[in-house]
Amino acid sequence: MQLVRQKEHNSQQGHRYAAGSRSRFGVAVAALLVAALGTACGSGGSDGPDKAAKEKAAKAAEAGAAGALSAAEKAKAAQQARVAAAKRWGLRKTPLTAPAAPKEKPEITTRDGFEVEDQEEYPPVFTTVPTEDKVVFLTIDDGSEKDPEFLKMMKELKIPYTAFLSDYVVRDNYPYFKEMQAAGVTLNNHTINHRYMPGLSYEQQREEICGQQDIIQKQFGKRPTLFRPPYGNYNQDTLRAAKSCGIKAVPLWNAEAFTNRMDYREWDRDLHPGDIILTHFRGKEDWKGTMPDMIRHVMKTVTDKGYAVARLEDYL
Ligand SMILES: [Zn+2]
Repeated sequence: MQLVRQKEHNSQQGHRYAAGSRSRFGVAVAALLVAALGTACGSGGSDGPDKAAKEKAAKAAEAGAAGALSAAEKAKAAQQARVAAAKRWGLRKTPLTAPAAPKEKPEITTRDGFEVEDQEEYPPVFTTVPTEDKVVFLTIDDGSEKDPEFLKMMKELKIPYTAFLSDYVVRDNYPYFKEMQAAGVTLNNHTINHRYMPGLSYEQQREEICGQQDIIQKQFGKRPTLFRPPYGNYNQDTLRAAKSCGIKAVPLWNAEAFTNRMDYREWDRDLHPGDIILTHFRGKEDWKGTMPDMIRHVMKTVTDKGYAVARLEDYL
């Protein structure tokens, strides 16, 4: 229909420009115009497939741009979620985001003064991970307090931590720690009964450490590689036993967090890159506050000093 109308219009024009003479030239112009218009309509013209390809490329480019945009938007949304979570959980500042995990893991050696005889044969004992990243590591011991709010808080804030479990306080509620593990937390070895290791024979220590390895493997499906002796006390038998149970490293700590204070090992009473922070699964029975109170306090200290909490396993 449109072509027909166009043809009539062009015919009239052709007629007019032909200055009254119904010449063959005028008709020819009209015919040419129609032909040109027909091509412009693109109905099966020679540029059809070309055009389809161009459209396809344009769509791909658009999709690519949208992908890049959504990654930026994703990061923005993640940050907004962190800010909102920090507000919701009463943190004064939003926790800093840790850098990407190091491509090469640092070489861990035993801290000076922490060696046992023939130390080089045993898993290293350390309180700080050698790194220049402005990160610290959060480790939580024992397991008596099982506060669901704590799990929720850490999940929403996306703060990584590592747990060192003693079965005698964990066994009444394995599902609590299963939920923790499902959130990405590694469950490590802190012996079965939390005894003072140097007071035990080699065999007794082996039972405490290897026994806890077996329990964690059975209950949580994964054999730990990290061990922390109760109270941080150990002797050569402890490290020998730990090694025989498959332990690769013995992280102690350089700072300890409570609900209302931090204790430091170093004379400067400060945090350092790679410091391991110890705290406990404890509640109001032991502390003047809850586990979320403790996290609020430790995160205030860590963030004020310009540190991010990183995943210990990323560095070991
Ligand atoms: Zn302990």
